[in-house]
Amino acid sequence: MLTSICGINWGDEGKGRMVDLLSSDYDIVCRYQGGNNAGHTVINDKGKFVLNLLPSGILREGVVNVMGPGMVIDIKHLCGEIERLREGGIKISPENLKISDKAVITMPYNVLQDIMEEDRLTKATGKPYGSTRRGIAPVYADKYMKKVFRMGELLNTQLMYKRLPDIVAWKNMTIKAYGFDPVSVDEMIEYFETYGKQLAPYIVDTGLYLNEANKQGKNIMFEAQLGALRDIDFGIVPYTSSSSTIAAYAPIGAGVPNLKLNNSIGIMKAYSSCVGEGPFTCEYFGDKAEKLRELGGEYGAATGRPRRVGPFDVVASRYGIRCQGADEIALTKLDVLDDYEEFEICTHYELDGKIIDEFPFTDVLDMCKPVFEKVKGWHCSLAKCRKKEDLPKEALDYIHLLEKLCDCKIKYVSVGAERDAYIVL
Ligand code: GDP
Ligand code: MG
Repeated sequence: MLTSICGINWGDEGKGRMVDLLSSDYDIVCRYQGGNNAGHTVINDKGKFVLNLLPSGILREGVVNVMGPGMVIDIKHLCGEIERLREGGIKISPENLKISDKAVITMPYNVLQDIMEEDRLTKATGKPYGSTRRGIAPVYADKYMKKVFRMGELLNTQLMYKRLPDIVAWKNMTIKAYGFDPVSVDEMIEYFETYGKQLAPYIVDTGLYLNEANKQGKNIMFEAQLGALRDIDFGIVPYTSSSSTIAAYAPIGAGVPNLKLNNSIGIMKAYSSCVGEGPFTCEYFGDKAEKLRELGGEYGAATGRPRRVGPFDVVASRYGIRCQGADEIALTKLDVLDDYEEFEICTHYELDGKIIDEFPFTDVLDMCKPVFEKVKGWHCSLAKCRKKEDLPKEALDYIHLLEKLCDCKIKYVSVGAERDAYIVL
């Protein structure tokens, strides 16, 4: 069984939480894109964990975790994350963590570039991209410029150290243009020596490993970061991430382009949240926003930034479901709506007096206005619901309404952050 778990919305749908839950049926969990800009919060019997780079299967004993070639890896951050989890009692060894030799290393100068550019944009235009400032866009740009170092090179540093001076000189041309001090070759060697060497035992050809595992009939789950609307091609460019967050990319980003997914599970939130900049048509402001943000605890796991919030957005979610080719949906954070006697959903957009049902091009999106419709709430706690029969009628009606409007089956409903707070429909 090859299954992808992807975000339908703008990210932070609760992918980490669902991967932690559903990975009980899987032998392997593989992250296939992005870097430490991810923030997946998982709460289970072992405690509360925030994962940035490690796949969310790392918290389950017996699951092998793979970091695929589609990822960009800040090796200092990864060493810190492994250390932090070990302190929390999680066992991590080359037995349960395998890092692709083809994954790209995020360099300290990429982080610097990200900061320099966001600050420049803010000063020049007042409109930064809303980056997490962790070097993700610059390192993916370098990847396509073919001026990066890959994890496999850490196994034989001689060759990479030969290439290093020219790449540092090239990078310094950019850094100096921003008016910053150049970086040195020695600093970069220290970065590789201090952190890269620690990770060497984990580096393997994960494509080979996954192909073998697949031949043996093992179940593999592919875990995405962010959501469809933050995808580099299909999202709200330029306010997106710099990698493909799409299920169809999973086999490529995982290192097994020859394999086909059996199943795509889309993680969709019962309302909307959007961290950072960009058009967010269904956005709430003022007290309405404040209330929903507080109820949903909508503050970024990676950055602590207050997330922008709004009601469920049918137009954007339907588009997200299409992009992810979702076969079934896990609807998360339904309990966040417990407090409302009545709440809203955004059913359409309006542009120049016309009603729009299809998610438009980003520039057009800026001019769209949301059309809200009222939905009757259940106004009681869902926290203890564990089966369909436990759900109040209004909650079930809301689930069926979303299924109808989005034309996709909702299979799982999450009613709390803890591992067991879910319902299979
Ligand atoms: P991810 O990036 O998609 O993995 O999602 P995040 O971890 O950034 O954000 C989801 C947040 O909601 C986390 O703090 C989770 O602990 C929490 N969460 C997940 N599912 C539920 C749920 O069903 N109900 C509630 N109340 N919280 C949830
Ligand atoms: Mg997150």
